[in-house]
Amino acid sequence: RFITLEGGEGAGKSTQARFVRDWLSEYGREVVLTREPGGSPLAEAIRGIVLGDWAEGVTASTEVLLMFAARAAHWHTTIAPALAAGRDVVCDRFVDSSYAYQSAGKGVAAAGLKALEKLAIDSHRPDLTLLLDIDPEEGLRRAQARGDENRFEQETLDFMRRVRDGFLARARAEPQRIRVIDAARDADAVSAEISAILAELPDS
Ligand code: C5P
Repeated sequence: RFITLEGGEGAGKSTQARFVRDWLSEYGREVVLTREPGGSPLAEAIRGIVLGDWAEGVTASTEVLLMFAARAAHWHTTIAPALAAGRDVVCDRFVDSSYAYQSAGKGVAAAGLKALEKLAIDSHRPDLTLLLDIDPEEGLRRAQARGDENRFEQETLDFMRRVRDGFLARARAEPQRIRVIDAARDADAVSAEISAILAELPDS
């Protein structure tokens, strides 16, 4: 099974991605934990470009093309082979992040993203997406408090509000796949809700 975690800055995706990995492992599954942008050697190199100084002043369309180039590599070299071998794949961010950040957040036409999505991953979709939803003000505060290397300085509140609305709109369009989880609660409460959702997954 292919499970993705999505959400804005400071929502706790990485912590919960590890929780999902551990939960599935305890259940006896072989699990690959991966992330985007990144997750394969080429895709990690592109991550370095997208999140590094190179990214200064690049247009949103440049960013989209780099994200999807990374995603195509990640899909073909990491995700698809793991799924084909019967493993579960847990991915910290995936296609929904592109729609939320580059389309809802930065105005890139969704039709363009759809075409790139088809090119990069054909018609494959996650079986389950956990959307960790948090008020951007609280999320940015958390991201700042942990002093991570993310680009929160440039990620203004208005931008993060558009990103959040973008994620929520996708959840409304695909309520079966995308489960919205209130991530303002403490990590244990969020994990408890996630384990209940995982327990409902069909065996495969
Ligand atoms: O998930 P993580 O916080 O590691 O993401 C790294 C950075 O990449 C974040 O700052 C996020 O804003 C950015 N990003 C983006 N567009 C995407 C995916 C991630 O701008 N499609």
